[in-house]
Amino acid sequence: AVRIRDVHKSFGSTEVLKGIDLSVPKGSTTCLLGPSGSGKSTLLRCIAFLEETTSGLIEIDGDPLGFADPGGGRSRTRLSAGDIRRVRAKIGMVFQQFNLWPHMTALGNVTEALVTVQGMKRQAANEIGNQQLARVGLSDRGHHYPSELSGGQQQRVAIARALALSPDILLFDEPTASLDPELTGEVLNVMRELAETGMTLVIVTHEIGFAASVGQKIAFLDHGKLLLDGPPAEIFGTPRHPRLEQFLETYL
Ligand code: ATP
Ligand code: MG
Repeated sequence: AVRIRDVHKSFGSTEVLKGIDLSVPKGSTTCLLGPSGSGKSTLLRCIAFLEETTSGLIEIDGDPLGFADPGGGRSRTRLSAGDIRRVRAKIGMVFQQFNLWPHMTALGNVTEALVTVQGMKRQAANEIGNQQLARVGLSDRGHHYPSELSGGQQQRVAIARALALSPDILLFDEPTASLDPELTGEVLNVMRELAETGMTLVIVTHEIGFAASVGQKIAFLDHGKLLLDGPPAEIFGTPRHPRLEQFLETYL
């Protein structure tokens, strides 16, 4: 589970996150919506500890880590490098750009970190890699290079790569945004299956139908504030928040 409390994030003098409170229960899927520039990627990167918050607390699995602010002011406690490594190991992330290594096969991409970071033996890593490729429907593509795979297949390799590290939480930042519409469905299906297995997922997406059917929780970010946070029936039901209505008109 993730608990986010009063998280602020500024870049220079620009405040991008303006006091975010959000909880992500274990085993649930949260879909994060919001217009371009509202701070969705920044929030995900803060949860993944790829970005330091300016103030506020992010708690992963009750681990009281984060930039705690016991005095209520803007001071913060810095995490040690070891703490950050430990928390990051719990979190997987999948990006809009698949970021696969072009000189490695699909299996090589999925197993690379197992071998070089975790020090796993090649054979054991390949076993896990093949399992994860099967999970995303790519058993027969392990020896293909990224250039020999469609965008949808490449993104599924990226998902398998994240899964291979057995994260507790998987974050997706617009995973289908750079895919042709006919390839979007196969990636959404993989995410739907992951949601059904009870993984904890946070998904930034403009696929409203997907969010409404797969998300247990919908969070709507606007100008760095969490405007809405609730079950899809409540968020998408009427009456709708006017900012959400406006957003839906753009993306539906
Ligand atoms: P999109 O839907 O376009 O991906 P987003 O909701 O993910 O948008 P963010 O990428 O989180 O938005 O950006 C929020 C704001 O923060 C933007 O105004 C952006 O320019 C700014 N921003 C993000 N990263 C940085 C950075 N490293 N340095 C300065 N400003 C940044
Ligand atoms: Mg973004």
